[in-house]
Amino acid sequence: MCTNPEGFGDVSLSGPYSYEGVLSRVLRIKDIPDSAAEAICLTGGEPTSHPEFLRLVSTIKRELPNNQLILATNGRMFAYEEFARKYLAIGSSKIEIPIHGSEARLHDAITCVKGSFEQTIQGIENILKYMSFEHELEIRLVLTKINLHDTRAILDLVKESFPRITRVVVIFPEFEGMCAKNMEVVGLKYSDVKEEMTGLISEWKESFDGLSLYHFPLCSLPVGLWGYAWRTLRGNEIMFPEQCNGCRFKKYCLGVHVDYAKLIGTDEFMPPTGNIKIKENNGPDREYHPIIEAI
Ligand code: SF4
Repeated sequence: MCTNPEGFGDVSLSGPYSYEGVLSRVLRIKDIPDSAAEAICLTGGEPTSHPEFLRLVSTIKRELPNNQLILATNGRMFAYEEFARKYLAIGSSKIEIPIHGSEARLHDAITCVKGSFEQTIQGIENILKYMSFEHELEIRLVLTKINLHDTRAILDLVKESFPRITRVVVIFPEFEGMCAKNMEVVGLKYSDVKEEMTGLISEWKESFDGLSLYHFPLCSLPVGLWGYAWRTLRGNEIMFPEQCNGCRFKKYCLGVHVDYAKLIGTDEFMPPTGNIKIKENNGPDREYHPIIEAI
């Protein structure tokens, strides 16, 4: 379900990802006006598998001490206690780790790596052991046809095994790259997900202060979850079907991913009706998180 294209792991294409190559690209951030406000996101593939990963992170932190560092990782390298300790000693960062299933059988089937569930869980434990106030840990759940039925169990696992974690993000997949290629196996419609979401509203609200939902048009969610919806896709990645022109919530809505519209269609999106009341977000993040509460 990854958005990377087929063959992205081909080692013969790894030239631009040398220590010098990555560093020079990251340091270009200094050319942006007000660059300290920009976050640096290390993603992949799997960034921690880079042979000079820790050296790269150390240099980035030294050169750009005021930029937020975000690491999107499968968490497996953190199963090695020494690695976890060294990474967390480098300095502040936000770490994002996906859990694909509540047990090894499902998680490993999705990652295609036997033992990956055990390593990811151990990695999370090690991060919690060594992290300090300057670190943030976020668990991510990418919904697919394969794990939708397991959503509740995955969230229960996070709640029961890692009660210190409050930041959880549930993500609707983007149908590009490998995800589009494997559409038959992983593809979902928003209408498939809405029922599952409705059943979980009250439990989620009680369990996670920092729950967020990424890539959901508002009408694809029960109204009670609108306050958790974030607009996280760029303008060229989304579209608004014609029926959205009559929608009074359009200015708060993410819209529909262009690839979803192409592959699945847009008939299911309809302007919400009824006496819906919303509380707007007037904070600095209102562009990304426009509604705080809806009933
Ligand atoms: S009808 Fe369109 S604008 Fe309105 S909530 Fe649905 S997708 Fe968003």
